[in-house]
Amino acid sequence: MCRHLAYLGPPASLRALLIDPPFGLYRQAWAPRRQRHGTVNADGFGVGWYADGDPVPARYRRDVPMWGDPSLADLARVTRSRAVLAAVRSATPGMAAGPAAAAPFASGRWLFSHNGALSGWPGSAEPLAVLSDLNVILTLEAMVDSAFLWALVLGRLRAGAPAEVALGATIRSVEAAGGSGRFNFLLTDGESVFGTAAGDTLWYRLAGAGVTVASEPSDDEPGWTEVPDRHVVTAAPSGAAIRPLTAVTEGITT
Ligand code: GLN
Repeated sequence: MCRHLAYLGPPASLRALLIDPPFGLYRQAWAPRRQRHGTVNADGFGVGWYADGDPVPARYRRDVPMWGDPSLADLARVTRSRAVLAAVRSATPGMAAGPAAAAPFASGRWLFSHNGALSGWPGSAEPLAVLSDLNVILTLEAMVDSAFLWALVLGRLRAGAPAEVALGATIRSVEAAGGSGRFNFLLTDGESVFGTAAGDTLWYRLAGAGVTVASEPSDDEPGWTEVPDRHVVTAAPSGAAIRPLTAVTEGITT
């Protein structure tokens, strides 16, 4: 399925973060090394980034493979940021196509990506819809399981849940309502990054005063740590912590 990456740290060009690394997201579009489901990620891509002094990120999303966009290299060369979230997409069968279906999904200062699938979408979402309200469903960015899951996460963020709780409780409530699938989420507000490992691979690395959380290492340099399955990583340039999903949602009853 998809591959995604978030970076927080000293200003870096999108090119340095996504295209230059030998096994970076650009290459993962056709040759991921650790992906557990799917082969290539050629159904679109998206990049979200924060400009200094503006809490609301910009997004650039396309429905072509990352290597097939003639504008990306140029844009990536001159765009620098301290906070980036990007994804390459392998559409789950039955999901909508188009740029609006490509991560990152966004609201206000948040950027979100989902690597995985909600089994049986959209039929399976019917009982899960009670977890959300109609307004949220009607404003989905695209008819994709990821947009639906993002709506559930966002509902929890808006209700005041800390980010890692919003992610963990969404997975727990979907599973409690009978939903199954793979739920590797990546979320950032430009200050911290939160990632879940729930069915596919997730790694992080603290290096050069920055932190990267990604589906898989973008190079063979030392410093990458794998996040165990059913865990959540909370990371900032100052450090990272890994906790079991069950610990994050302990005491949360909804
Ligand atoms: N299910 C999502 C989609 O169709 C994510 C797919 C993935 O992880 N490959 O876009």
